[in-house]
Amino acid sequence: MPATCRALLTAAVPRLSAAGIESPRVDAELLLAHVLGVPRARLLTLDGVDDDVAARFEELLTQRADRVPLQHLTGRAPFRHLELAVGPGVFVPRPETEQLVGWALEQLRGTVAPVVVDLGSGSGAIALSIASEHPGARVTAVERDPGAIEWTRHNAAARAAAGDARVEVLAGDMTDPGLLRELDGDVDLVVSNPPYVPDGARVPREVADHDPPLALWGGPDGLDVVRGLLVTAARLLRPGGVLGIEHADQQGRTLPALVRTRREFADVDDHPDLAGRPRFTTARRTG
Ligand code: GLN
Repeated sequence: MPATCRALLTAAVPRLSAAGIESPRVDAELLLAHVLGVPRARLLTLDGVDDDVAARFEELLTQRADRVPLQHLTGRAPFRHLELAVGPGVFVPRPETEQLVGWALEQLRGTVAPVVVDLGSGSGAIALSIASEHPGARVTAVERDPGAIEWTRHNAAARAAAGDARVEVLAGDMTDPGLLRELDGDVDLVVSNPPYVPDGARVPREVADHDPPLALWGGPDGLDVVRGLLVTAARLLRPGGVLGIEHADQQGRTLPALVRTRREFADVDDHPDLAGRPRFTTARRTG
Protein backbone atom coordinates (compact mmCIF):
# COMPACT_ATOMS: atom_id res chain seq x y z
CA MET A 1 0.00 0.00 0.00
CA PRO A 2 1.46 3.41 -0.93
CA ALA A 3 2.38 5.74 1.92
CA THR A 4 0.14 8.73 2.52
CA CYS A 5 1.52 12.26 2.74
CA ARG A 6 0.23 12.46 6.27
CA ALA A 7 2.14 9.33 7.32
CA LEU A 8 5.35 10.46 5.59
CA LEU A 9 5.18 13.82 7.34
CA THR A 10 4.33 12.35 10.72
CA ALA A 11 7.43 10.15 10.51
CA ALA A 12 9.64 12.94 9.19
CA VAL A 13 8.98 15.61 11.80
CA PRO A 14 10.59 13.88 14.82
CA ARG A 15 13.64 12.99 12.71
CA LEU A 16 14.24 16.60 11.70
CA SER A 17 13.47 17.72 15.20
CA ALA A 18 16.01 15.29 16.66
CA ALA A 19 18.59 16.67 14.22
CA GLY A 20 18.05 20.13 15.70
CA ILE A 21 16.11 21.61 12.79
CA GLU A 22 14.14 24.58 14.15
CA SER A 23 11.03 24.28 12.01
CA PRO A 24 10.74 20.53 11.35
CA ARG A 25 7.09 20.51 10.27
CA VAL A 26 7.44 23.37 7.79
CA ASP A 27 10.68 21.96 6.38
CA ALA A 28 9.19 18.48 5.95
CA GLU A 29 6.12 19.88 4.23
CA LEU A 30 8.16 22.08 1.90
CA LEU A 31 10.41 19.17 0.94
CA LEU A 32 7.50 16.84 0.24
CA ALA A 33 5.68 19.55 -1.71
CA HIS A 34 8.88 20.10 -3.69
CA VAL A 35 9.18 16.41 -4.58
CA LEU A 36 5.54 16.29 -5.60
CA GLY A 37 5.67 19.60 -7.44
CA VAL A 38 2.58 20.92 -5.66
CA PRO A 39 1.99 23.92 -3.36
CA ARG A 40 2.43 23.08 0.31
CA ALA A 41 -1.25 23.78 1.00
CA ARG A 42 -2.28 20.92 -1.29
CA LEU A 43 -0.28 18.23 0.51
CA LEU A 44 -2.95 17.00 2.84
CA THR A 45 -5.51 16.74 0.05
CA LEU A 46 -3.36 14.07 -1.58
CA ASP A 47 -3.75 10.42 -0.69
CA GLY A 48 -1.12 7.83 -1.48
CA VAL A 49 2.15 8.80 -3.11
CA ASP A 50 4.29 6.61 -5.34
CA ASP A 51 7.29 4.75 -3.96
CA ASP A 52 9.71 6.86 -5.99
CA VAL A 53 8.26 10.02 -4.40
CA ALA A 54 8.66 8.49 -0.95
CA ALA A 55 12.25 7.49 -1.80
CA ARG A 56 13.16 10.95 -3.11
CA PHE A 57 11.59 12.55 -0.03
CA GLU A 58 13.63 10.22 2.16
CA GLU A 59 16.86 11.35 0.43
CA LEU A 60 16.05 15.03 0.92
CA LEU A 61 15.08 14.43 4.53
CA THR A 62 18.42 12.77 5.22
CA GLN A 63 20.24 15.74 3.71
CA ARG A 64 18.14 18.23 5.65
CA ALA A 65 18.84 16.32 8.88
CA ASP A 66 22.50 16.71 7.93
CA ARG A 67 21.82 20.48 7.86
CA VAL A 68 21.93 21.11 4.15
CA PRO A 69 19.94 24.37 3.83
CA LEU A 70 16.32 23.83 2.90
CA GLN A 71 16.71 26.34 0.08
CA HIS A 72 19.54 24.30 -1.46
CA LEU A 73 17.33 21.22 -1.44
CA THR A 74 14.39 22.95 -3.10
CA GLY A 75 16.64 25.18 -5.22
CA ARG A 76 14.46 28.19 -4.39
CA ALA A 77 14.60 30.99 -1.85
CA PRO A 78 11.60 33.25 -1.26
CA PHE A 79 12.60 36.90 -0.83
CA ARG A 80 9.91 39.58 -0.55
CA HIS A 81 7.61 38.73 -3.44
CA LEU A 82 10.31 37.02 -5.53
CA GLU A 83 11.41 33.42 -5.67
CA LEU A 84 15.10 33.24 -6.43
CA ALA A 85 17.12 30.30 -7.66
CA VAL A 86 19.85 29.36 -5.17
CA GLY A 87 22.21 26.48 -4.58
CA PRO A 88 25.80 25.66 -3.69
CA GLY A 89 28.04 28.66 -4.39
CA VAL A 90 25.63 31.44 -3.51
CA PHE A 91 24.57 32.98 -0.19
CA VAL A 92 20.98 32.13 0.70
CA PRO A 93 19.09 35.41 1.17
CA ARG A 94 17.82 35.98 4.71
CA PRO A 95 14.54 37.51 5.87
CA GLU A 96 16.25 40.40 7.73
CA THR A 97 17.61 41.66 4.41
CA GLU A 98 14.01 42.05 3.21
CA GLN A 99 13.76 44.90 5.70
CA LEU A 100 16.81 46.64 4.26
CA VAL A 101 15.04 46.52 0.89
CA GLY A 102 11.92 47.98 2.53
CA TRP A 103 14.00 50.89 3.80
CA ALA A 104 15.61 51.34 0.36
CA LEU A 105 12.24 51.42 -1.40
CA GLU A 106 11.01 54.09 1.03
CA GLN A 107 13.99 56.23 0.13
CA LEU A 108 13.20 55.89 -3.55
CA ARG A 109 9.50 56.63 -3.20
CA GLY A 110 8.44 59.33 -5.65
CA THR A 111 11.73 59.34 -7.57
CA VAL A 112 11.68 58.67 -11.30
CA ALA A 113 14.46 56.47 -12.73
CA PRO A 114 16.72 56.48 -9.65
CA VAL A 115 20.22 55.07 -10.09
CA VAL A 116 20.80 52.21 -7.65
CA VAL A 117 23.88 50.08 -6.94
CA ASP A 118 23.78 46.82 -4.93
CA LEU A 119 27.30 45.94 -3.76
CA GLY A 120 27.88 42.20 -3.20
CA SER A 121 24.65 41.06 -4.78
CA GLY A 122 24.88 37.26 -4.49
CA SER A 123 21.55 35.79 -5.57
CA GLY A 124 20.51 39.30 -6.62
CA ALA A 125 17.89 39.46 -3.87
CA ILE A 126 18.31 43.18 -3.09
CA ALA A 127 18.92 44.42 -6.64
CA LEU A 128 16.14 42.37 -8.22
CA SER A 129 13.60 43.25 -5.53
CA ILE A 130 14.28 46.95 -6.01
CA ALA A 131 14.00 46.63 -9.80
CA SER A 132 10.75 44.73 -9.36
CA GLU A 133 9.18 46.97 -6.73
CA HIS A 134 10.34 50.35 -8.01
CA PRO A 135 9.66 50.24 -11.76
CA GLY A 136 11.96 52.65 -13.55
CA ALA A 137 14.89 52.15 -11.17
CA ARG A 138 18.20 51.67 -13.00
CA VAL A 139 19.87 49.02 -10.93
CA THR A 140 23.41 47.62 -11.11
CA ALA A 141 24.31 44.47 -9.16
CA VAL A 142 28.02 44.00 -8.37
CA GLU A 143 29.44 40.59 -7.40
CA ARG A 144 33.10 39.54 -7.05
CA ASP A 145 32.64 35.80 -6.50
CA PRO A 146 32.79 33.95 -9.85
CA GLY A 147 30.63 31.14 -8.45
CA ALA A 148 28.01 33.44 -6.99
CA ILE A 149 27.73 35.70 -10.04
CA GLU A 150 26.41 32.78 -12.08
CA TRP A 151 23.37 32.88 -9.79
CA THR A 152 23.12 36.67 -9.96
CA ARG A 153 23.05 36.44 -13.76
CA HIS A 154 20.62 33.55 -13.80
CA ASN A 155 18.15 35.30 -11.49
CA ALA A 156 18.53 38.63 -13.31
CA ALA A 157 17.72 36.92 -16.63
CA ALA A 158 14.72 35.16 -15.08
CA ARG A 159 13.30 38.42 -13.68
CA ALA A 160 13.86 40.24 -16.98
CA ALA A 161 12.02 37.41 -18.74
CA ALA A 162 9.21 37.83 -16.21
CA GLY A 163 8.88 41.46 -17.23
CA ASP A 164 10.91 43.38 -14.63
CA ALA A 165 13.40 46.03 -15.72
CA ARG A 166 16.75 44.53 -16.65
CA VAL A 167 19.33 44.69 -13.86
CA GLU A 168 22.92 45.22 -14.98
CA VAL A 169 25.16 42.53 -13.48
CA LEU A 170 28.81 43.49 -13.12
CA ALA A 171 31.71 41.27 -12.06
CA GLY A 172 33.70 43.40 -9.66
CA ASP A 173 34.91 44.01 -6.15
CA MET A 174 33.10 46.63 -4.09
CA THR A 175 36.42 47.81 -2.66
CA ASP A 176 37.99 48.41 -6.10
CA PRO A 177 38.73 52.15 -6.60
CA GLY A 178 38.06 51.71 -10.33
CA LEU A 179 34.60 50.16 -9.88
CA LEU A 180 31.78 51.82 -11.85
CA ARG A 181 33.73 55.05 -12.44
CA GLU A 182 31.12 56.06 -15.01
CA LEU A 183 28.54 56.41 -12.22
CA ASP A 184 30.72 58.61 -9.96
CA GLY A 185 28.55 61.19 -8.22
CA ASP A 186 25.37 60.06 -9.99
CA VAL A 187 24.03 57.30 -7.76
CA ASP A 188 20.89 57.90 -5.70
CA LEU A 189 21.15 54.79 -3.54
CA VAL A 190 23.94 52.39 -2.61
CA VAL A 191 22.72 49.33 -0.75
CA SER A 192 24.65 46.31 0.50
CA ASN A 193 24.57 43.18 2.57
CA PRO A 194 28.36 42.80 2.66
CA PRO A 195 30.39 40.04 4.27
CA TYR A 196 30.54 41.19 7.90
CA VAL A 197 31.13 38.14 10.09
CA PRO A 198 34.30 38.65 12.21
CA ASP A 199 36.95 36.05 11.38
CA GLY A 200 36.78 33.23 13.89
CA ALA A 201 33.21 34.01 15.01
CA ARG A 202 30.97 31.00 15.48
CA VAL A 203 28.36 30.56 12.76
CA PRO A 204 25.86 27.70 12.50
CA ARG A 205 27.21 24.65 10.67
CA GLU A 206 24.56 25.12 8.00
CA VAL A 207 26.03 28.55 7.24
CA ALA A 208 29.72 27.61 7.55
CA ASP A 209 29.35 24.56 5.33
CA HIS A 210 27.01 25.91 2.67
CA ASP A 211 27.20 29.69 2.31
CA PRO A 212 30.21 30.87 0.29
CA PRO A 213 33.08 32.15 2.49
CA LEU A 214 33.39 35.33 0.40
CA ALA A 215 29.84 36.26 1.43
CA LEU A 216 30.53 35.84 5.14
CA TRP A 217 33.94 36.72 6.46
CA GLY A 218 34.94 40.32 7.00
CA GLY A 219 38.32 40.27 8.74
CA PRO A 220 39.19 40.65 12.45
CA ASP A 221 36.26 42.94 13.37
CA GLY A 222 34.10 41.93 10.40
CA LEU A 223 34.34 45.42 8.92
CA ASP A 224 37.27 45.08 6.50
CA VAL A 225 35.09 44.92 3.40
CA VAL A 226 32.80 47.63 4.79
CA ARG A 227 35.74 50.06 5.05
CA GLY A 228 36.31 49.72 1.31
CA LEU A 229 32.58 49.83 0.66
CA LEU A 230 32.36 53.23 2.36
CA VAL A 231 35.07 54.66 0.08
CA THR A 232 33.23 53.34 -2.98
CA ALA A 233 29.84 54.56 -1.77
CA ALA A 234 31.20 58.05 -0.98
CA ARG A 235 32.52 58.25 -4.55
CA LEU A 236 29.44 56.88 -6.30
CA LEU A 237 26.69 58.71 -4.42
CA ARG A 238 25.42 62.08 -5.55
CA PRO A 239 25.10 64.78 -2.88
CA GLY A 240 21.98 63.81 -0.92
CA GLY A 241 22.15 60.20 -2.13
CA VAL A 242 21.66 57.52 0.51
CA LEU A 243 23.52 54.46 1.75
CA GLY A 244 22.09 51.41 3.53
CA ILE A 245 24.30 48.61 4.90
CA GLU A 246 23.31 45.46 6.76
CA HIS A 247 25.54 44.49 9.67
CA ALA A 248 25.82 41.95 12.49
CA ASP A 249 23.90 42.69 15.67
CA GLN A 250 27.21 43.22 17.50
CA GLN A 251 28.10 46.03 15.06
CA GLY A 252 25.24 48.37 15.99
CA ARG A 253 27.67 50.89 17.50
CA THR A 254 30.90 50.21 15.64
CA LEU A 255 29.53 50.52 12.12
CA PRO A 256 27.68 53.83 12.66
CA ALA A 257 30.82 55.11 14.43
CA LEU A 258 32.91 54.08 11.43
CA VAL A 259 30.57 55.87 9.02
CA ARG A 260 30.69 59.01 11.20
CA THR A 261 34.48 59.15 10.86
CA ARG A 262 33.97 59.98 7.17
CA ARG A 263 33.04 63.57 6.42
CA GLU A 264 31.22 62.50 3.21
CA PHE A 265 28.33 61.14 5.28
CA ALA A 266 25.70 62.75 7.50
CA ASP A 267 22.44 61.70 9.17
CA VAL A 268 23.98 58.40 10.20
CA ASP A 269 21.31 56.19 11.70
CA ASP A 270 20.93 52.59 12.83
CA HIS A 271 17.84 50.41 12.54
CA PRO A 272 16.69 47.26 14.35
CA ASP A 273 15.38 44.08 12.74
CA LEU A 274 11.99 42.63 13.67
CA ALA A 275 13.55 40.96 16.71
CA GLY A 276 14.78 44.37 17.92
CA ARG A 277 18.45 43.70 17.21
CA PRO A 278 20.49 46.46 15.53
CA ARG A 279 20.95 45.40 11.90
CA PHE A 280 21.20 48.29 9.43
CA THR A 281 23.21 51.47 9.24
CA THR A 282 22.00 54.20 6.92
CA ALA A 283 23.50 57.55 5.99
CA ARG A 284 23.18 60.42 3.54
CA ARG A 285 25.93 61.74 1.28
CA THR A 286 26.79 65.31 2.14
CA GLY A 287 27.68 68.02 -0.36
N1 GLN B 1 23.56 37.20 8.33
C1 GLN B 1 24.51 36.26 7.78
C2 GLN B 1 24.50 34.98 8.56
O1 GLN B 1 23.45 34.47 8.77
C3 GLN B 1 25.87 36.86 7.59
C4 GLN B 1 25.81 37.55 6.32
C5 GLN B 1 26.85 38.47 5.95
O2 GLN B 1 28.01 38.43 6.37
N2 GLN B 1 26.45 39.34 5.12
O3 GLN B 1 25.51 34.43 8.90
